[in-house]
Amino acid sequence: MSETKPPPLVRTSELSKHYPVGRSPLQRRIVHAVEQVSLEIFPGETLGIVGESGCGKSTLGRCLVRLTDITSGTLEFAGRDITRASQRQLRPVRRQMQMVFQDPSASLNPRRRVGDLLADPFRVHEKLSRSEMADRVEDLLVRVELLPEHAQRFPHEFSGGQRQRIGIARALALRPQLIVADEPVSALDVSIQAQIINLLADLRDALKLTYVFIAHDLSVVRQFSSRVAVMYLGSIVETGPVDAVFSSPRHHYTAALRSAVPVPDVDNRPAQRIVLKGDLPSPLDPPSGCRFHTRCVAATSLCRYERPVLSFVDTNHLVACHHPRAG
Ligand code: ADP
Ligand code: MG
Repeated sequence: MSETKPPPLVRTSELSKHYPVGRSPLQRRIVHAVEQVSLEIFPGETLGIVGESGCGKSTLGRCLVRLTDITSGTLEFAGRDITRASQRQLRPVRRQMQMVFQDPSASLNPRRRVGDLLADPFRVHEKLSRSEMADRVEDLLVRVELLPEHAQRFPHEFSGGQRQRIGIARALALRPQLIVADEPVSALDVSIQAQIINLLADLRDALKLTYVFIAHDLSVVRQFSSRVAVMYLGSIVETGPVDAVFSSPRHHYTAALRSAVPVPDVDNRPAQRIVLKGDLPSPLDPPSGCRFHTRCVAATSLCRYERPVLSFVDTNHLVACHHPRAG
């Protein structure tokens, strides 16, 4: 029996985000933060996004929930093109897609009680009585395994892990379909990380959430995601089921990235350490052709001139490389 895939919740086509930098027109330069990203995210799945610092993960995440404008390409949410939607047009869509950040403290006003902070989304989007609002806040606190009486406390009275729970509660307030979590556990102690990951996983099951999970830690992504996209200098170089991508990476960059962390592969063989030559090029002046060619062991002259597009190497497994590794 053939299974028909549901339509994607999110679809991007050649989405790019460029930041102009430099004060005067003569000094003006362009940061190519995200470059021609095409992806589809299906309801209920967790797509991990990995790559070195500065490769455009956060920028892509912010584009997906339209927290930032998109330079070119398109973005669809639930079948609707929202690439250029105005703030007013975005309002009904906003509640469907929320972001969880690495450092929740930055968005928690220290002078307001947690109950008030959590009630904000209801004030903006829903007309509720005081007691209805208090009930909803209590539900949220319990959902993230905090206590109803925590509503009376101020953000500084919580630990880092508890503050992230509050950040998650706030993202959940309007019952979104999509959550983009940008390194949600990177700032936490390892023991606390596992608790937050478990909470996110429980919420996914209970509330049928779809996640984009951004991390530089491959082992966390491997635990938590069904599919992964590997980014290098603003572009996706490889994407596929987590196990396929991490146990038999086809892109030379993925292989190097994986070998840099002690993640044994499926057969528990430690991956051989691959050290990349050269430095990460600047997104102000990315290399021609394949952006990875300056550091790639397999690069040929073709790679200098022609940019490889993502192509299938296996079911659901795509790689953007002229000379992929053997599977
Ligand atoms: P990551 O999350 O993978 O570390 P980012 O998306 O934060 O990467 O950044 C990608 C690139 O875009 C980096 O070179 C970064 O310096 C640049 N960048 C991010 N935000 C801005 C901004 N507001 N203005 C200019 N450049 C930016
Ligand atoms: Mg980031």
